[in-house]
Amino acid sequence: MSTQSTTPAGLDQTAAKLKEEVRDFLANHDHTKMDRLEFLRARYDAGLAWVNFPEGLGGKGLDRSLQGIVADEFAASGAPDNKPSLNVIGLGMAAPTLLKYATPQQLKDRLRPMWTGEEIWCQLFSEPGAGSDLAGLATSAVQQPGGDWVINGQKVWTSLAHEANWAILVTRSDPSAVKHRGMTYFFVRMDTPGVDVRPLRQITGEAEFNEVFLDDVHIPDEQRLGEVGAGWAVAQTTLMNERVAIGGRSMPREGGAIGPLAHRWRNHPESRDPALHDTVLNYWVQAEALRLTSVRLGQQLAAGQPGPEGSGVKLAYSTLAQETYGLELEVLGEAALRYDDYSMGRPNMEDRGGRGPGFRFLRSKANSIEGGTSEIMRNIISERVLGLPPEYRVDKDLPWKDLAR
Ligand SMILES: Cc1cc2nc3c(=O)[nH]c(=O)nc-3n(C[C@H](O)[C@H](O)[C@H](O)COP(=O)(O)OP(=O)(O)OC[C@H]3O[C@@H](n4cnc5c(N)ncnc54)[C@H](O)[C@@H]3O)c2cc1C
Repeated sequence: MSTQSTTPAGLDQTAAKLKEEVRDFLANHDHTKMDRLEFLRARYDAGLAWVNFPEGLGGKGLDRSLQGIVADEFAASGAPDNKPSLNVIGLGMAAPTLLKYATPQQLKDRLRPMWTGEEIWCQLFSEPGAGSDLAGLATSAVQQPGGDWVINGQKVWTSLAHEANWAILVTRSDPSAVKHRGMTYFFVRMDTPGVDVRPLRQITGEAEFNEVFLDDVHIPDEQRLGEVGAGWAVAQTTLMNERVAIGGRSMPREGGAIGPLAHRWRNHPESRDPALHDTVLNYWVQAEALRLTSVRLGQQLAAGQPGPEGSGVKLAYSTLAQETYGLELEVLGEAALRYDDYSMGRPNMEDRGGRGPGFRFLRSKANSIEGGTSEIMRNIISERVLGLPPEYRVDKDLPWKDLAR
């Protein structure tokens, strides 16, 4: 792995060298003549995928803050990207979890096709009786005499399960242990016999997520991440990265919910209402403050693992998105009553740009639920950031099998 100086001068030097490397790469790989996938694979092999990952795994072991330089250089050249929103769970959640817990061979096999988008990932965590209280989950994993595992249960709200090749999966392996201790974490191929994916339709009309039934699904022990019974610790890595992936994306000014509202406000003076002026301005300022906070969170991440601060950004992002899209409808007036398309699409999250304001408003309802509800984010902030007394948990010390369900 490369060594680097983390002093500002050292980082500047590394940044200049990195920029040079990207330019050399682009000079030797003409994306206008190359197959898109071959180009992406070559970029990964050159360590220019995620520069903070180790050498040989798409990176250079550099400071995460330098990723922006690579991204900017590639974007400026017009080269194809790996469509990050298509594989948001793979790149945002599965990759950091695998990096921490998978074997060298698993990393070698899984990370490249994940980064290039050849393999899409989904997250089999939530269950009908275990969402906020994930540690209450019931999907069972029973180890067989040969070491392999047999999984049975039902997962729900599984985004992208209909596109996914692989899934990260949390199970109950020891019902007699207390609920946080008896869990084991795996990754599993979605085409394994016994995995059944069924669409669930949302308020938007789309079915972007699914319920997934697991019926005698056999998983080799090599696809376990972390120790048997230590799945909760592994899941924490995933969940902290999830909040950052949802709330901590760096985006350009007016790149989020405020964008369409600001556009409408500027270009349609006839829809302006003096009473709304202060509110629009207020949301614009909040959006900008949140954007800059996300940038700071990204810089904090460069210095270590994601912390509970991600919950603050996730909470603020979802609240502001809902309010802003609501205001957009208000500004639109009667035109807001039209809905563009209520057919049951099966989107892959790649491009939502074309959808109308009604869709944006309805989809934002999920923001305060997906990736952990706003109430849970508030609990995390109060307990882990502000140090307030923890919520009273009556079932903490009871064996999972004895809990009321
Ligand atoms: C669009 C979307 C995509 C999703 N994608 C995935 C996915 O890909 N994979 C996956 O595994 N899951 C996914 N989820 C599931 C999501 O993580 C859960 O819905 C979420 O964690 C909430 O769990 P729940 O629905 O069981 O609600 P519950 O936990 O039953 O909560 C119901 C209500 O009670 C509140 N509540 C619960 N406990 C507390 C508490 N201790 N203190 C205060 N209030 C509390 C909640 O905040 C909520 O308002 C997705 C959800 C959505 C909406």
